[in-house]
Amino acid sequence: MLRKLGKGLYVRQPLLSLVNINKYFGDVHVLRDVSFTIEQGEFLTLLGPSGCGKTTLLRCIAGLEHVHSGDILLNGSSIKGIAPNKRNVNTVFQNYALFPHLNVYDNIAYGPRVKKLMKEAELKDRVSKVLDLVQMLGYEKRMPHQLSGGQRQRIAIARALINEPSILLLDEPLGALDLKLRKHMQTELAQLQRKTGTTFVYVTHDQEEALNMSDRIVVMDQGQVQQLGSPREIYNNPSNLFVTTFIGDRNMIRVKVLDVGEASTRVQFGEDVVEVRNSKRHHMVAGEEALLAIHMDKMRVSCGEVPNALRGEVLSVHYAGSQIRIQIQVADKVITAVEYQKTDCDCEAGDSVYVVWEEHGAILLPLEDSGVEGEV
Ligand code: ATP
Repeated sequence: MLRKLGKGLYVRQPLLSLVNINKYFGDVHVLRDVSFTIEQGEFLTLLGPSGCGKTTLLRCIAGLEHVHSGDILLNGSSIKGIAPNKRNVNTVFQNYALFPHLNVYDNIAYGPRVKKLMKEAELKDRVSKVLDLVQMLGYEKRMPHQLSGGQRQRIAIARALINEPSILLLDEPLGALDLKLRKHMQTELAQLQRKTGTTFVYVTHDQEEALNMSDRIVVMDQGQVQQLGSPREIYNNPSNLFVTTFIGDRNMIRVKVLDVGEASTRVQFGEDVVEVRNSKRHHMVAGEEALLAIHMDKMRVSCGEVPNALRGEVLSVHYAGSQIRIQIQVADKVITAVEYQKTDCDCEAGDSVYVVWEEHGAILLPLEDSGVEGEV
């Protein structure tokens, strides 16, 4: 949205701005100076471990929790003092919260009827439209107990969408579904969001769900934003040790920095010297120690000699469906490589191998910023 500054002068204004939000439960500081903006039409996910404050932040946006300090702006105006039902923001919870005594039609029509927003004929059209969006046309007369979990979740979403909210807040909406249905609903929800153009703020602790569905992800830990970025940015360029260890499975190897070039840094581990791409965020210093973090699924194991590799000995090879997990002793460290196709070499325990990785699969972090004590 554009905001007029003066004659002919406009600035782009975010749909929602969170400005230095702080929130306490008793003595516990659960949201610490949380600030970021959400753009119109975005699919933004709050991702973090259990208890990091995702739901609390969502509830603050919805107006269901009081904010101790900071501000929440919708289209540039503060909504802090505005009641939840007046915020033009709707929430879909994990437990659906459908009225058990009302059929699908009446569940969806409930909100507009209470607000006396439209006549029954118009309401009928709107209910049909949202039922079509969630692919549930024809289910109007069913009672909630006659629906599957996935169908109940679709009705809960339809019930929120009928209000045409500026923002739809979704709190782990797929958490109660089994894995297969959850994956299916992830695709459907992402498509629905693109089709309606509604801004989604989605809460999950499941990184795969966040990486699959979102335009941008806010990674949170202990009430603080750790990183905000696109899935690719978060996956390839983690901002700190927390994000590095939280997103994806990585081998963490303590290395010595030999020299720092413009595009890459040479590091030593055991007797091997390898080059690692430089990251925008972290600056290495020659002579110091650093952490080399490599995504397990970006590694390749080769039987023949290859440049820029760590040499090791295979400890075990484990086949799990399409995945092959290879454990390798490299100097004094055991690392794991995950491959999805047949490996370059059919290695077995005891074989000598060379381990390499895709350029963006590895990152160097300064040891002193990482909070790591002892061995990694
Ligand atoms: P989960 O993924 O497990 O739902 P979350 O990241 O959504 O976790 P929150 O539910 O926001 O985390 O909780 C953040 C912190 O606030 C936790 O330590 C929690 O115990 C605490 N908390 C949440 N609600 C209340 C409450 N009503 N009273 C007291 N403490 C609360």
